[in-house]
Amino acid sequence: MTDVAIIGLGCAAYTAAVYTARYKLDTLVIGEEEGGMGMTAVEVGNWPGDIDVTGPDLMERYKNHALSFDNVTHKVGRVEKVEQTDDGFRLTMQSGDTEEARTIIFATGSNKRHLDVPGEKEFSGKGVTYCATCDAFFYRGKDVAVIGGGDSAVEGAAIAAQVANKVYLVHRRNEFRAEPYWVDKVNEKENVEFVLERNLVEVLGDGKVTAIKLDKEWNGSDEIKVDGVFIEVGSIPAVDLPKQLGCEMDERGHLKVDDAMKTNITGVFAAGDVTSASNHFAQFATAAGEGSVAANTVFAYLQAGEGHGGAMG
Ligand SMILES: Cc1cc2nc3c(=O)[nH]c(=O)nc-3n(C[C@H](O)[C@H](O)[C@H](O)COP(=O)(O)OP(=O)(O)OC[C@H]3O[C@@H](n4cnc5c(N)ncnc54)[C@H](O)[C@@H]3O)c2cc1C
Repeated sequence: MTDVAIIGLGCAAYTAAVYTARYKLDTLVIGEEEGGMGMTAVEVGNWPGDIDVTGPDLMERYKNHALSFDNVTHKVGRVEKVEQTDDGFRLTMQSGDTEEARTIIFATGSNKRHLDVPGEKEFSGKGVTYCATCDAFFYRGKDVAVIGGGDSAVEGAAIAAQVANKVYLVHRRNEFRAEPYWVDKVNEKENVEFVLERNLVEVLGDGKVTAIKLDKEWNGSDEIKVDGVFIEVGSIPAVDLPKQLGCEMDERGHLKVDDAMKTNITGVFAAGDVTSASNHFAQFATAAGEGSVAANTVFAYLQAGEGHGGAMG
């Protein structure tokens, strides 16, 4: 049985692993996608100490740092089930393999939100995708629409504009929530058109995407011809596993933690985008900060020799 199983292979998980390793805890860091959401950040300009770094570079360095310790075991795979045992927790993988741990840190991040409009599912992978920064390069010289008004949408539009012929940035409001840095970047692009105060109501196509349909006319039509649609309308915390243990969520559906990154279940901790912490500010810096706090709390908890099971007092 390992001291701590950290579920996730993103920024929060690898940071927590660096700390638990240095606390001399036997650490299992286990997750489905190596690097997590960080892999989609094309340009990271706000990771202190690195003026200019890409998400994949940063994630590779996090991983190498975590794996530089002998007491860290790294496994790639989806965890399907988590349950309490007499002396800790059992994880069951999609493969059927099981792992046992005295404590858990959930660092499962979030999943992209879908719009659930007609045509979205039908053309998913045939022109509809959920990561503009990952997939824009497949649309060189083509016309695409990015749906959304937050950081991912506006950054995605700026990146897509570097290769696409035309980018329609469709947003339901008349101003963007995104970081002003990215709004300035997108404003500089001559091939980006703002389609504001409009909602996507349908994705049209014939085997693959051919157009989007809006709720209101824009430039004389409620349809815009495009080859690709990037839906960037936020994300939903990945809380299926903590729910299996009876963990509480906050009003926004994030895994509820206290200042020490403890959940309401004894022996269960969390860090990163999945949590209610850091005012829901989902960033590398906050995920890393929360990962370090969670690891520190796990260390204190194991040192104190607290029992397992039941709700936190
Ligand atoms: C396009 C884009 C650009 C961004 N740019 C910036 C930026 O410039 N600066 C910045 O600070 N932040 C940026 N962010 C935000 C930043 O990427 C995230 O805040 C950060 O990566 C969150 O890390 P995390 O470890 O909490 O979660 P994630 O990186 O999402 O990692 C979650 C991990 O959990 C795993 N997982 C989930 N469920 C399971 C399961 N059941 N079994 C096994 N594994 C599971 C996933 O596979 C993944 O490995 C950007 C985000 C996007 C989308």
